[in-house]
Amino acid sequence: MSAPPKAWSYYEATVTRPAFHDAPMGDVDTDVCIVGGGLTGISVALDLAEQGASVRLVDAGRIGGGASGRNGGQINTGLAPGAAGLLDVCDRATAQALFALSEDAIRLIDDRVVRYRIDCDLARGFFYGAAKPGRMKHMAVEHAALRDVFGLDRVHMLDRAEAVALTGSDRFHGGLLDPGAGHVHSLKYCLGLARAAAAAGAMLHEDVPALSVDPERGIVVTPQGRIRAEHVVIAANAYFDGLLPNVEPRALGVGTWVMTTAPLAPEVRDHLLPGNECVCDDNAVLDYFRFTADNRLLFGGGVSYLGREDGPAAAGLLRRRIAATYPELADAPVGEVWGGKVSITRNRLPDIGRAGRRVWYAHGFSGQGVAITGIAGKLIAAAIQGDDAGFRIMSGVPHRDFPGGPYLRRPLVTLGRLWYRLLDRF
Ligand SMILES: Cc1cc2nc3c(=O)[nH]c(=O)nc-3n(C[C@H](O)[C@H](O)[C@H](O)COP(=O)(O)OP(=O)(O)OC[C@H]3O[C@@H](n4cnc5c(N)ncnc54)[C@H](O)[C@@H]3O)c2cc1C
Repeated sequence: MSAPPKAWSYYEATVTRPAFHDAPMGDVDTDVCIVGGGLTGISVALDLAEQGASVRLVDAGRIGGGASGRNGGQINTGLAPGAAGLLDVCDRATAQALFALSEDAIRLIDDRVVRYRIDCDLARGFFYGAAKPGRMKHMAVEHAALRDVFGLDRVHMLDRAEAVALTGSDRFHGGLLDPGAGHVHSLKYCLGLARAAAAAGAMLHEDVPALSVDPERGIVVTPQGRIRAEHVVIAANAYFDGLLPNVEPRALGVGTWVMTTAPLAPEVRDHLLPGNECVCDDNAVLDYFRFTADNRLLFGGGVSYLGREDGPAAAGLLRRRIAATYPELADAPVGEVWGGKVSITRNRLPDIGRAGRRVWYAHGFSGQGVAITGIAGKLIAAAIQGDDAGFRIMSGVPHRDFPGGPYLRRPLVTLGRLWYRLLDRF
C-alpha cells in the first residue's frame, strides 16, 4: 500500500511530465476505478475512456513512477518463461494462445505509438545471447519452439562470430536475433498513453494512494475520499501490499537495478552495437543493455530477493558487469543509477484475474511486462465491457502461492534463486 520510493532515473531526466487531474477528489462515483498508473492501469484507462466509460485512476506516486518508468525498455517476444519454457508451464493450445497474445502486445505498442503520436524512441531488434558455450543447445531448442510451435520465422540463430559482430562483445557464444522485438523509452511511452487516456476523459490522480478496497461493494478508500465504482482494477504491480491479501502471495517483489553512462560518442555506439539492438543474456540473474537515443549505454542487472530498490552497491555491481561486457567502457562516466521492483510469479507468467464481484487485477509480469502489460490492460477493459474471450485465456493460467507464508517466503525464494545463480557459472 505504498508508492515506490522516488528514483531519479535517466527516464525521469529526459521527459517533460504533463500535469494530470489535480483537483481535490472528495467522495465520487465512477464506472471504473483503477489503482496504479503504470503501463497496465493506463492501458485499461485508455480503452475504457475511449469507449465512453467514466474512469478514475489513482496512483500512490506519479504516473509511470513504478516499474513502467524505470525498466530496461526491452520489448520482448513471447512471455518470461521463454518459448520452450511456455510449453513446460501449459498445454500446447494454451501456450499457442498466450504466445499469440504476446505478438498482439508488440503490435499494440506500434499501433498506439502511431495513433497517439507518441515520441518514445521506439527501435527494433533484440538479441538473446548465450553466456556459456554449453547453452547454445538450449538456444537451438528455443529457436525450434519459436518456429515449429509458435510459427515465428523471423528469429535467426547466430553463431559466436556473428554474436560478437552484432554486440561488439566477446561475452556471447551465439544466440537468437529477433528483428521483430525491440526497445522503447518506456516512461515516454507510458506518459504518452496517459495523455491519450486523459484526452479521452479519464481522470488521473497522482499522489493518491488506495488504502483499502471493498471487493463486493466496489469501494476504494483514499485519503482524499471514497471512490464508489462498478468495477475496480488493481494494477499496482509489486507494490499492492495489503490491497488483495488472497492474491498477493502469488507474486514476489524483487529489487533490481539499472545504470546509464553519460552520453558516449556516436562512433562508440556504432562500433559496439551497430544495429542498435537491445541485448539480454541467458543467465538466471541476467544482464540486459542497449543504447538510448542520446547514446548512453543503459545497463541493467543484479537482483535483491529482499526487494531492495535502493541497492547501495548497485553502481559498483553494474560497473563491473559493464566492464565484463565492454572492457573499453570500464571507466566510462556514470550517468544515473536507479532501482525498481519486478513482480515475479512461480511460473513466470502474469497473474490476471478477478477477486470478488467487482474487482479485477493484474500483476506478476516477471520482468517481461513492457509489451504484455498493454494487452493485459486491453483484455481487462474488454472483459469489463462484456467480451472476456482474451481475458479468459490469460486468467485461465493456474498460479500458486510462493511457499513459506509471509515470514519464510522471501528466505525460501532467496535460497532457491541462489541455486540458479550457481548454475549461471556453468
Ligand atoms: C528495473 C526494471 C527493469 C525492467 N526491465 C524490463 C524490460 O527491459 N522489459 C520488460 O518487458 N519488462 C521489464 N521490467 C518489468 C516491467 O517494467 C513491468 O512488468 C511493468 O512496467 C509493470 O507495469 P505495471 O503497470 O503493472 O506496474 P508499475 O509500472 O509498477 O505500476 C504500478 C503502479 O501502482 C502504483 N501503486 C501501488 N500501490 C498503490 C496503491 N495502494 N494506491 C495507488 N497506487 C498504487 C505505483 O505507484 C505504481 O505507479 C523491468 C522492471 C524493472 C523494475
